[in-house]
Amino acid sequence: MNIALIAHDTKKELMVQFCIAYCGVLSRNNLCATGTTGKMVEQATGLNIQRYLSGSQGGDQQISARISCNEIDLLLFFRDPLTAQPHEPNERDLLRLCDVHNIPVATNIATAEALIHALERGDLDWRQLVNPA
Ligand code: PGA
Repeated sequence: MNIALIAHDTKKELMVQFCIAYCGVLSRNNLCATGTTGKMVEQATGLNIQRYLSGSQGGDQQISARISCNEIDLLLFFRDPLTAQPHEPNERDLLRLCDVHNIPVATNIATAEALIHALERGDLDWRQLVNPA
């Protein structure tokens, strides 16, 4: 499975802790992330992560492009709902594309935990039928 990770600045440490906790299952999948999120997770966990640009520099759009090509099976996007983001239109489009392509997406840690357990159980294997790559 191809998993994309994005965390707003106030949620990056949470993303790092989440990835440490679920390092085992994450290591059995292909990971990509926006720049700083990917760097922090990589440094804390040693996981191999394909890093894109920072969200504000177009990283969200790079992940959006992969979603459009059905190359992402799961998006974990830890959002800060209390802080305005300059690249918010791109983020809205990213989430819209997840709905267009039926990509499971978590925007907070509670849903992320539910999805990662579903991933471990094989409940998301139907994605492989949609995306055999
Ligand atoms: P970053 O991008 O991981 O490079 O910080 C994510 C964001 O905050 O939009």
